Amino acid sequence: MPSLEREAYRLRSLIDDADAIIVGIGSGMSSAAGFNHYNRAGMARAGMTDWQQAFGFKSLFDGFYHLYPSLEQRWAYYARYIDFMLRELASQPYLDLRSLIGHKDYFILSTNVDTQVEKTFPDERTCNYQGSFAHLQCKQPCCDELFDASPYVERMLAGMAGFEVLSEDIPRCPHCGWQLVPWVRDDTFLQGAAWRESLGRYE
Ligand SMILES: [Zn+2]
Repeated sequence: MPSLEREAYRLRSLIDDADAIIVGIGSGMSSAAGFNHYNRAGMARAGMTDWQQAFGFKSLFDGFYHLYPSLEQRWAYYARYIDFMLRELASQPYLDLRSLIGHKDYFILSTNVDTQVEKTFPDERTCNYQGSFAHLQCKQPCCDELFDASPYVERMLAGMAGFEVLSEDIPRCPHCGWQLVPWVRDDTFLQGAAWRESLGRYE
């Protein structure tokens, strides 16, 4: 039997014998699904070769971390990128994993922010440790609140011209008026009630 196949059988028997399973999911899982956030191929997959050509980005994350001259331009990129992730359905590697462990007592601890985990597994069995592009947060942050990203993204896309969104469509915190930003880990990342609760489930 080839060694890869042997490993697969071994994994299956470990799953069968386990009382409980904790799965750690990282970027390789989404790369296996064809979402290459870290290389050039990913930009074509996301339908963002126009940004690649105009700005010379080497990857989707390259464009995410780029320092844009205006918020209108930065949000044009974010809106397109987030829209791509939101529209993608749960992908095969995630569905395969669910079918392998779905009958067991399992928990998913993930560092992926591309919304694949929450599309595949129930909330009570997951912790998105680094957040998720499905939500926005206040950049201060002034409040412990997560905002559904999709209505903001839809409005920005509807008003977008070239590589800019309309100034009035830039997401703003309804409480303090400062910027909303994607709920993904950086130096202002909101580790609020929702995040602590999911970490508590893991622990
Ligand atoms: Zn605020």
